[in-house]
Amino acid sequence: MSSLSTIVIGTGIIGIATAYYLAKNHGQTRITLIDRDQPMAFTSAQSGENYRNWWPHPAMVAFTNRSTDLMEEIARDSGNRINMNRRGYALATREKNIDELVGQLHDGLGDSAKNMLRYHSHRRSDTYVPFDSPDWEGMPDGVDIIQNQALIRDRFPGYDPEIQTIIQIRRGGDISGQQLGMYMLDYLKSVGVKRVVGEVRNITQQGGYQVKVANSSGSETLVADQVVNAAGPFADKIAKMLGVDLPVYNTFQQKIAFEDRRGAIPRTMPFSIDLDGQKIDWSDEERDMLLEDPDFAWLAGDMPGAIHCRPDGGDAGKWVKLGWAYNETPAKATWEQQLDSNFPDIVLRGATRLNPALKSYYGQLPRNMHHYGGWYTMTEENWPLIGRMGPERSFMNCAMSGFGTMAACAAGELCAATIAETELPDYASDFSLARYDNAQLMTTLRAANKGVL
Ligand SMILES: Cc1cc2nc3c(=O)[nH]c(=O)nc-3n(C[C@H](O)[C@H](O)[C@H](O)COP(=O)(O)OP(=O)(O)OC[C@H]3O[C@@H](n4cnc5c(N)ncnc54)[C@H](O)[C@@H]3O)c2cc1C
Repeated sequence: MSSLSTIVIGTGIIGIATAYYLAKNHGQTRITLIDRDQPMAFTSAQSGENYRNWWPHPAMVAFTNRSTDLMEEIARDSGNRINMNRRGYALATREKNIDELVGQLHDGLGDSAKNMLRYHSHRRSDTYVPFDSPDWEGMPDGVDIIQNQALIRDRFPGYDPEIQTIIQIRRGGDISGQQLGMYMLDYLKSVGVKRVVGEVRNITQQGGYQVKVANSSGSETLVADQVVNAAGPFADKIAKMLGVDLPVYNTFQQKIAFEDRRGAIPRTMPFSIDLDGQKIDWSDEERDMLLEDPDFAWLAGDMPGAIHCRPDGGDAGKWVKLGWAYNETPAKATWEQQLDSNFPDIVLRGATRLNPALKSYYGQLPRNMHHYGGWYTMTEENWPLIGRMGPERSFMNCAMSGFGTMAACAAGELCAATIAETELPDYASDFSLARYDNAQLMTTLRAANKGVL
C-alpha cells in the first residue's frame, strides 16, 4: 500500500494534517499537495484558533479529545511551537437553573460525567484549580460548575454582575493554527512531499486519477492513484467533479480583533462565551432608526447567545478577539470575504453585555482594528465528513464548520488511517457518509443543539 501516490486538494489545515498523518503514520510519502494559493491562506487563516472538548455527543467529545492529545504531543515535541495554552472555555449565564446545560454535559460525557463535573457552591472550594498560568500542562480536565457569587467575582472580575453561573470547560484554550500547519509542512518537506500551486479545474478517472490544474503559467494534468478532497468551502465543487453530491453548505462568519489599549479585558480571562440571548445595547434613537429600516430591523430584535471574547497574543500582549456566529443564511462560497461593515459595531455592543468595560470603545474602535471572516462549511447536523467519498480510492476530509483547527489532528489521523486501510477509531463510521444510513443517529443529531461557535 505504501507505494500508492496521492493528490491532496487543499492546503488548509485539514489537507496538511491529512498528508502529515499519511506520511508519518503510514509511510505514504508519494504525496502532491495542490492549492490555488499559499498554504493556510484561506479559511484556516481566519480561524479564532480556539479548542475545547465540550460537545453534546460522546463521538464529538472523543474526537476532539483525541485531537487535543495529538496537539499536546506536537506542543511537547516542538517546545510548544504551536503556542498551546489552556485556561478553558468559560460559559456564562444569568440563569440559576442550569438543568438543560448539565443535561447536555451528561449527554456528551456519558458515564464519565460523575467524575468530570465539579460543583462549586462554596467560597472556599478545595477542588477548584485556578488558571493564573497559561500553561496547558498540569491543568485539570473536566468541568467546573461555579454558582458561588463570591468565587465568580473573584475569578472572573470583569463579567456582568448579573452572571449567576459559570461552566468552565477545563480542557480548552487556544493554539496557533498557523504554526501547527507550518510544523506539519516542515515535516512533509523533509520527507519529499511536493507542493503545486494552481486551481483544480477537472478530475477524470481512468485507472488512477487525472487532476487538471490551472495557474498563471498555463495548465497541467497531474496523476495519482488516490485523491483526497480537502477543499474546505469548495469541497462540494471538487466532489461534483467526481459525480458525488456532498450534503454540505456554507455560511459566512466574522470576527474582529483590536488592540485593547484601555485594558478592558483581563489578560488572564479564558475564552468567554455569553450563553444568553440578548437585545443589543443601542440607544433609543439608534433602535428607532433600525426599526424603521426593514433591512436592519432585526438588529433591534432578539439576538442569539454565544457571543464570545478572548485576549489574544499571550499574557504580555494587548489584543482581543470578538466573534458572534449569528449568521445562519447559507450562501454560495466565494473566494472574496463577504464582510458586513456593520459587524464591528454589532459585535462590540453585543460583547459589552458580558464584559461591560468594553463600552469605552463605543464609536472609538482603534483604527488598526482587524475585521475578517470566512466560511463555515457544514452539514445540517454540524458533524464533519471524513472517509471514503465515492469512486474507489477517493477520500474526503471536510465540513469542519467552526471546529476545523481544533479537529485537524484527529481528522487528519482518521482520514489517513482510512486511506491506509488500518484500524479505525470507534467514531470513524459516525463521521463518514455511512452515518446517513443510521436513521436513529441522524434523528438524535438533528434534534440536538448545533453548538455553532
Ligand atoms: C471566522 C471563523 C472563526 C473560526 N474559529 C475557529 C476556532 O476558534 N476553532 C476552530 O477549531 N475552528 C475555527 N474555525 C473553523 C476553521 O477555521 C475551519 O474549519 C478550518 O480552517 C477549515 O480548514 P480546511 O483546510 O478544511 O479549509 P481551508 O482552510 O479553506 O482550506 C481549503 C483549501 O482548499 C483550496 N481549494 C479549494 N478549492 C480549490 C481548487 N479548486 N483548486 C485548488 N485549491 C482549492 C483553498 O484555496 C484552500 O486553501 C473558524 C472559522 C471561521 C471562518
